[in-house]
Amino acid sequence: MAKVTLPDGSTLEVSDGTTAGQLAERIGQGLSKAAVAAKINGQLVDLSTPINGDTAVQIITLKDSEGLEIMRHSCAHIMAEAICSIWPTTKLVYGPTVEDGFYYDVDLDEPIRPVDFERIEEKMLEIVKADRPFVRTEMSRSEALEKLAGDKYKTDNIRHADSEVISFYSQGDGFEDLCRGPHLPSTGRAGSFKVMSVAGAYWHGDPTQKMLQRVYGTSWPTKKELDDYLRRLDEAKKRDHRLLGRQLDLFSFDEAGPGFAFIHAKGMIIWNEIVDYWRSVHDKYGYQEIKTPIILNEQLWHKSGHWDNYKENMYFTSFDGASYAIKPMNCPGLCLVYKTTKHSYREFPMRVAELGLVHRHEVSGVMHGLFRVRQFTQDDAHIFCVPSQIEPEIIGVIELTFEIYRAFGFEDFHIELSTKPEKHIGSDEIWDVSTDALKNALAHKAIEYKINEGDGAFYGPKIDFHIRDCLKRSWQLGTIQLDFSMPQRFGLVYTDRDNTEKTPVMIHRAVLGSFERFIGILIEHYGGSFPLWLSPEQARVLPISEKSNDYAKAVQNKLKDGRLRCGCDLSDEKIGAKIARAHGEKLPYMLVVGPKEAGSDTVNVRIRASEETKTVGIGEFITIAKSKIADKKIDLAF
Ligand SMILES: [Zn+2]
Ligand SMILES: [Zn+2]
Repeated sequence: MAKVTLPDGSTLEVSDGTTAGQLAERIGQGLSKAAVAAKINGQLVDLSTPINGDTAVQIITLKDSEGLEIMRHSCAHIMAEAICSIWPTTKLVYGPTVEDGFYYDVDLDEPIRPVDFERIEEKMLEIVKADRPFVRTEMSRSEALEKLAGDKYKTDNIRHADSEVISFYSQGDGFEDLCRGPHLPSTGRAGSFKVMSVAGAYWHGDPTQKMLQRVYGTSWPTKKELDDYLRRLDEAKKRDHRLLGRQLDLFSFDEAGPGFAFIHAKGMIIWNEIVDYWRSVHDKYGYQEIKTPIILNEQLWHKSGHWDNYKENMYFTSFDGASYAIKPMNCPGLCLVYKTTKHSYREFPMRVAELGLVHRHEVSGVMHGLFRVRQFTQDDAHIFCVPSQIEPEIIGVIELTFEIYRAFGFEDFHIELSTKPEKHIGSDEIWDVSTDALKNALAHKAIEYKINEGDGAFYGPKIDFHIRDCLKRSWQLGTIQLDFSMPQRFGLVYTDRDNTEKTPVMIHRAVLGSFERFIGILIEHYGGSFPLWLSPEQARVLPISEKSNDYAKAVQNKLKDGRLRCGCDLSDEKIGAKIARAHGEKLPYMLVVGPKEAGSDTVNVRIRASEETKTVGIGEFITIAKSKIADKKIDLAF
């Protein structure tokens, strides 16, 4: 008999050899119908896997992220079969999942074009309708190598496999693929799918290898979820920050500086508003701010370890017969500031922030508007403390981070904790103390998080913050990183309570990451319709005819005196054209004025994205607008 422990702690006795699928059936019909795979003792397996002895079993459905991934990966096999049946000379390479979908790399001389997608989808649908089971067979590595002799891609996959047992999956009808699994029980469970795009990709990302075709697809449990996803993609295209950046005159790029953004006057207003807010929050949380040079002697980078580990991404220059590097990170400069005076435990925790301009070389192919640039301003800070202060400091950073995200209207967060990797420096004791401090801080804030076991940097564990925007896209923004290496490399010390010199704990942290990238995310999140406090032009006065120009100018001056960013459209166009232009620029408020308003010291307010208009006194408008700015309100209505 096998004793099965379920996720809720209850146990069940089944005879040895019972499959996970049969177990699901025993638990209940609903679960059995929803089941796509299982986790036996923490390992994902097919539903056909037998259960033996005492085991912990979790039935996986499409509600679990693992279930969704298994469905998408299975769909990659179905797409591969479809492609092979249309182009029989296709050589398959590999087909992993990506966020919201999957791809399959194929080696095929004939280019697959978007017009072919429908044909591929039709073939896939046939395979899904046939509802054939995914059947696993296993063999030894040498047998598998013999079986696939001559197929350079699949034999390479076998060489990269970490198991001695090599598995194949057939999906009925003679189609078989090397894969470690698991998969759906049958092709009929593949959900609603779509072939999305095709792009060139080198084998193993190596430009000296043959260019393959990477065919992307997406799949979702229901048709409605697929439609929602496609609608979000469509919306994302309309919100593309590169497009809106040009349209709203916020920033640009030029060949003269590939990957270096030119921030325009309106973009700088948004930038400075974020900086002002960022400074006020950091002041509240007890940070000091410093500024360190962007060019520093090469020797410093040898000392920091960047020369050995990061040289390929750095820019260099030389003058006065010496060699210098342009900083990719701010910490070494900070260490020099730390060393200018003696420090005592009494000063700790010491929180030092810097809006540091860093340069990191990226290959030209990966650059993407403000999202991937070679020069950016990092909202950096470092905390020096003693080990017992790690936990409260982490709690403080979490609170500050969430406060800042919420101010921009982000409410959906996702946290990941990365722990000690195999290759690491520092004692097990300091790793345990710090990892526990990170865990306790997250527990203290009742935050759910994902653990990436062994994924920390060699010099310390870390927490990453991800946010979801209004299109449900996930962005990694903030990070908290403990560092056991740099304080030692730079010989940083403090005098402890017992009068001995000790090495401080150093915490690196960033909340927004890169200002450039964050502004890019904001442009897409808001679709260019910025909340009032961030809008480059918060209101524009629109006189209905030339006769009201003087009153319009007087209104504009009053708003400016009230420290609102206000424009005035004195062009000789019709009012309709003026409104249309202001609308196109996504201005929060349009203040239409004519003789009636001039006679009563009022303005007729049109609110962005609203049909309604409202007449209010100038003073009242200023008061309302200012209170919305002070509260960082997203909603403009009043
Ligand atoms: Zn597979
Ligand atoms: Zn740092």
